[in-house]
Amino acid sequence: MTILDRDVVIIGAGPSGLTAAYELRKAGKSVAVLEARDRVGGRTWSQNMDGATIEIGGQWISPDQTGLYSLIEELGIETFERYKEGASVYLADDGTRSVYTGDDFPVAESTVAEMNKLIKEMDRLTAQVDPDAPWAHPQAAELDMISFHHWLRTISGDEVACNNVGLFIAGGMLTKPAHTFSALQALLMSSSAGSFSNLVDEDFILDRRMVGTMQGVSIAVAERLGEDVFLNNPVLKLDWSEDGVTAYGTDVTVHAKKVIIAVPPNLYSRISYNPPLPRRQHVTHQHQSMGLVIKVHAVYETPFWREEGLSGTCFGPSAIVQELYDNTYHEETTGTLVGFISDLQADAMFLLPEAERKDAILASMAKFLGAKALEPSVFYLSDFGAEEWTRGAYATSYDLGGLFRFGPDQNKNVGPIYFSSSDLAGEGYQHVDGAVRMGRRTAVRINAAIEG
Ligand code: FAD
Repeated sequence: MTILDRDVVIIGAGPSGLTAAYELRKAGKSVAVLEARDRVGGRTWSQNMDGATIEIGGQWISPDQTGLYSLIEELGIETFERYKEGASVYLADDGTRSVYTGDDFPVAESTVAEMNKLIKEMDRLTAQVDPDAPWAHPQAAELDMISFHHWLRTISGDEVACNNVGLFIAGGMLTKPAHTFSALQALLMSSSAGSFSNLVDEDFILDRRMVGTMQGVSIAVAERLGEDVFLNNPVLKLDWSEDGVTAYGTDVTVHAKKVIIAVPPNLYSRISYNPPLPRRQHVTHQHQSMGLVIKVHAVYETPFWREEGLSGTCFGPSAIVQELYDNTYHEETTGTLVGFISDLQADAMFLLPEAERKDAILASMAKFLGAKALEPSVFYLSDFGAEEWTRGAYATSYDLGGLFRFGPDQNKNVGPIYFSSSDLAGEGYQHVDGAVRMGRRTAVRINAAIEG
């Protein structure tokens, strides 16, 4: 057993914990990072499969994500643009396939008008919401009382419009059905990206990727921290008092002045706190839960859809694979598609035996892009729901009424215990950018507290 004394111990070597450790080190503080897995990066993770680069977790960066942009500039990491040329494909609820260009889905003119009305109303409200304090909006209490599903239907009676617009936040972001979270939670999501229009614009929100993958960002930070990052060290026990903490990893114990718990909020209660956390945290932490999405990767000999003038971008609000994109890594000649299967559709897929699941998913992809999609050389499903140290994807959000009730306390420290996660961020909420912003912010707070 190694026993260490440090200024700050950080639990979790995802982008948030690593950024916090890096900033504290730059400010002259000693740190130790204890990570449960045998790798860094948390919900960002990449592997080479049969010659193709597969990003199993987070990968895209958007122009507003300046927290992450400034970090990668410091690390010397470059980005490349996602392939966006050509037409998109839309699959209507009745299975009709349409190839289209421009911003509007190829649906009835009246539905386009209703979708634009909903988007305008979301933009109007989003402009009034502070992503760092959505609960401070004058109508926050009532917006947190109504599900996003039902709120959309108070604005429009057009079911297709409501489902299509709902998808951008429900299946597309929080990865929960729209009836399980509030309109206020949806507004936090859109304000975290600057506007709802930014969020529905895939060319904005899925703009660029990292050369060397998104996990490469965490790897580069961990390299700078060197021997202060300890893998295979889940922390399941934490002693604390106003004077300091002791974090117990598997073979490393760290005594420190402060601790940063940089794990997703749904995992806070994996740690046994001695003495127990206060009532407020006990209750709050039960209202933050992970969404569920399967990220599907399929690699082909060539990006065949490009030859047909298609970008690879496909939407099907009621299809098994609701979104599909060209995800070919730069410099590769093979073609990679990435698809997303969210919440209820993901549940249904996991009920199927593996071979049937694969057939159902590929058949859904073929409805967008034709029979060539049926025979990939690599087929891989990201399954963060089955990962002990994540337990869902992409991130956590509150249940109905939780954001207004518990949100104001989510970022408060408990004595020497601080929380840092993309899931507690305002700008960049649920994204690597938010993880970086939270890591930096937490480091500044701790530094100030230590220096008194
Ligand atoms: P995490 O990345 O979850 O890191 C937490 C770390 O804590 C993990 O390494 C975990 O192993 C460790 N840990 C947990 N419990 C313990 C314990 N008890 N002791 C020690 N260590 C522990 N974001 C984007 O910006 N763009 C995207 O395109 C994007 N796509 C995504 C796709 C998927 C499939 C997923 C899952 C996420 C995606 N995200 C995306 C979200 C992004 O990956 C997360 O917001 C980000 O990784 C969160 O960083 P974090 O450091 O807060 O938490």
